[in-house]
Parts: sequence; structure tokens; C-alpha cells
Amino acid sequence: MKQISHWVGGRRVTESSGGRGQVFDPATGEVTGSVDFADASLVDEAVRTAAEAFADWRGVSLTRRAAVLFAYRQLLVEHLDELAALVASEHGKLLADAKGEVQRGLEVVEFACGIPHLLKGEHSVQVSTGVDSHSLHQPLGVVAGITPFNFPAMVPMWMFPLAVACGNTFVLKPSEKDPSAAVRLAELFTEAGLPDGVFNVVHGDVTAVHALLAHPKVAAVSFVGSTPVAKSVHEAATRAGKRVQALGGAKNHMVVMPDADLEVAADAAVSAAYGSAGERCMAVSALVAVGAVADDLVAAVAKRAESLRVGPADDPEADMGPLVTSEHRRRVASYLDVAAEEGAAVVVDGRGVVVPGHPDGFWLGPCLLDRVSPSMAAYRDEIFGPVLSVVRVENLSDALELLARNPYGNGAAIFTSSGAAARRFELEATAGMIGVNVAIPVPVAFYSFGGWKESLFGDVHVHGPEGVRFYTRAKAVTTRWPSGPEPAPSLSFPSTD
Ligand code: NAD
Repeated sequence: MKQISHWVGGRRVTESSGGRGQVFDPATGEVTGSVDFADASLVDEAVRTAAEAFADWRGVSLTRRAAVLFAYRQLLVEHLDELAALVASEHGKLLADAKGEVQRGLEVVEFACGIPHLLKGEHSVQVSTGVDSHSLHQPLGVVAGITPFNFPAMVPMWMFPLAVACGNTFVLKPSEKDPSAAVRLAELFTEAGLPDGVFNVVHGDVTAVHALLAHPKVAAVSFVGSTPVAKSVHEAATRAGKRVQALGGAKNHMVVMPDADLEVAADAAVSAAYGSAGERCMAVSALVAVGAVADDLVAAVAKRAESLRVGPADDPEADMGPLVTSEHRRRVASYLDVAAEEGAAVVVDGRGVVVPGHPDGFWLGPCLLDRVSPSMAAYRDEIFGPVLSVVRVENLSDALELLARNPYGNGAAIFTSSGAAARRFELEATAGMIGVNVAIPVPVAFYSFGGWKESLFGDVHVHGPEGVRFYTRAKAVTTRWPSGPEPAPSLSFPSTD
């Protein structure tokens, strides 16, 4: 059984003052690891270590910081397979999917390599007679990151490479369900030349999170996870005077218009709903069928869903893996019982799926519900599993109204061949990320990722230009170099002549 330790001050720290957690292989149901949990005193040690490292790191030249990031990028490329295997072994997602996750995280490191350009300020000469102005973007100090189980490599990489590139130091509290990738990412960063203490990892549960949120030396918090926790983290961190961005859950809608290419739309819906067993914050969970397209769309999606193969991460024939824990599997499957009681049609039922040789894995096959109404639990809740609900509406206005009434606003997609419908959707849909004939519109690293409504608490999205803004504080400098005799002092408000 592997032992998973913290990473503080550039070395592994074995300390289970906050208890221990079990790590599973979701494909076999076996416990494969034990992860040390931090209590408040270990969190304090990690934050103090990061605060001490900040004193030097903030003064390290931009070119030196970029050089460390370039070296890190190279190491991540070389260790991509290893990192993907680590993710797959604890999360359960397929190897190809895990590689994609690491790759998307790596792209944020590539973006952060451009930090000398990204931190350029502005300079204006002669804003007043003999007076110049310029602006600076300075780091905040110690930043905390708290991340979910479903992207154990990518979501932390949305945060720490950019925070560190901006001159901050970082304490990451990854998900306790799949914690190994975070420690390996930290080790590789040290190998790339990052000074000790700049990037630290503490494991734990709510105790560790609360200690980070209350710590006076934590200047800012980036959180990604479920909506109730995002909301409480946002409130607690704000109350403690910290800058905070807290990304929450989702109910992503994919609207299919009658003029859409049905085969393209069905392929996209199946891939977006069942990829990674539906455990993606950008997974499509509500398929909105507009007008006459509904019957054909449901049939096309059902045919594809029934042919998907469920299996362990290293099965090259598999399309999707298990759910992360048996408890989560039970919760997701329970939505099918409730949906049937509430009057939805269970078109594809994945509850009986059997994976040969893996009797105790946390399996649930693709599930498709039709004639789901907005009042049903399957529509109201974020299920976070391979359950796709079809909601039938009359027209695009009804689809937009449905979206507007939904409390979540992460991603939303439209499938259509009409430019006018697509444009209206782009302008009116109440979500932070919009796809036009793209079911999972995750922005590339040089744009920013974030939702609206209960999918994001705080104002600033992650990575890309908004990430640089979040991890820096602006300063405006006004300069004057008097060169001769000065007029008599005036006590009136300075003018800009
Ligand atoms: P979660 O909210 O249970 O946990 C997220 C983090 O918060 C973990 O590190 C966990 O240890 C910690 N945590 C859990 N309960 C806490 C509490 N009561 N107080 C303080 N901290 C607590 O989320 P999860 O189950 O790990 O991940 C799945 C959720 O994350 C889904 O809702 C999904 O939509 C969301 N998610 C959102 C995005 C996004 O970009 N919006 C991205 C990925 C995942």
C-alpha cells in the first residue's frame, strides 16, 4: 500500500496530525494507498514556509522565473505518461483521457512561460508638465489552492504555475480522493529549479481547508469544487479579508436545433455526457431537444450510448471508466430510481453493467433519461455521473429561458446550421463558456475559464489574462523630477496642466 505524504519546503513530509484517508483503485474497489492529513499546525508550517520563500521569490528576475517554467514544461512533457497513469490509478478515468488532462494543464505552464510579457505595465510620459505615470503588477504573497477530485492534475495546474510565475508562493490542498499527482507535480517543479518553499502541497479534509482560509498569511484563495463548498469557501475567505475566486458545480446544457446535423450532434452529446463517466465540470448533463428533432435525437443518442464499453483505465477498448467511489456510484444510480418515479422515461439503464474480471469496481454504464422536466431531481441537481437528461422544448426562446432559470452557468452549447440562431445563443445564453457546434467549450489556456451564477463565486475567472489579474495587485506610480527653482507651494488640489 502506498503512503502519500505532504510536500513542504521542497521535501516530502510524513505527518498525519489530521488523521489519514484511504485512496482507492476505482476499477477494483481495493484500497491502494493511505494519505496523510494535515491539521492546523502543519498547515501553519506550510504557509509560513511559503511566506518565507516569498521574500526572495518575489525579487527573482522575470527571465529566471521564465527559465524555471520552461524547464518545468520540458519535465512535464517527459513525464506525461507517468503523470497520466498516476491520475488514472486513483481517479479511474481512461489513460487517454488522463493524458488529455495533463496536456491541458501543461498548456497553462506554456502560457505562464510568457510571464515577462504578461506582467508588462503601462507607461505614460508627460501626463502633466514634468510628470510621468506608470503602472506595476505585483504579487500578492502566499496563495492557497483547493481543488476537486475530477481533475487531480489539470485543475491545480490552472492555478499554481501562473500564481508562481507572477511572483507568489503557493500552498495547494488537493482532493484527498486522488492526491498523488499533486505531489509528483511539486517534485518535478523542484527538479526544474523552483526554490524550496515556493510550491507546497498539504493533504487533508475540511480541517486543512478551514486552517488555510483562516490563516492571516494567506493573501488569496483559488477554489474549485462543488457549489455548496465553493459558496462557503467564498464567504469564509472574503470574511477573512482575502481575495477569492471559487468555482462551483455545473449543469451544462446542449441545445440541439431542428436544423442541426443530427449525426454530429448525437456524437458530440455522447462524448460530452459520458466521457470520464460524466465526472467533468463541463460534461453535458441536459440535452435540450428543440421542436421536431427530439425523437430522432433520442434514438441516435440511445444507439450510441448502448454501444459504449465500460472498463478499467488500461483497457484500450474501453470508452469510459468507473466512478470515483462506491458512495458516489450509489448516489448517481439513485437518480434513475427517482427519475422513473417522477415520470421520466429511462431509455438506457447502465445500472446492470458488468465488467469481466472486475466484480468490485465502482461501475455504472451510460444512462439516458427522456421527457425530463425542470422540476425533476435529475434536472435540478448536478448528478456528476454518466446520466444524460433530455428536456424537450418548443423553440430557441424556450431553450434560452430554461438556461436562464437554471442556477448554474458554467458551459452551454448550441448545435445548429443557422448563424442567426448561433449568434442569438452566444449573446443571450447565461453561461460563462459558450460552444457553437462544440459540446465542451473549455477555453484554451490563453483565454480564461469560468462560469456564471452558482458556478463561480467571485469576479475573476481562472488562468489566461484573468488569472494574471487575480494573482497580482496593481500599483500606479506618478513621478516628477524637479530640475530648477520651484514656485511657492500651493495648498489647492494639484491640477494636471
Ligand atoms: P468537493 O466540493 O467535494 O471538494 C472540493 C475540495 O474541497 C476538496 O479539496 C475537498 O477536500 C474540499 N472540501 C470538501 N468538502 C469541504 C467542506 N465542507 N469545507 C471545506 N472544504 C471542503 O468537490 P469534488 O467532489 O472533489 O469535485 C466535484 C465537484 O467539483 C463538482 O461539483 C464539479 O462540478 C466541481 N468542479 C467544478 C469545476 C469548475 O471549473 N467549475 C471544475 C472541476 C470540478
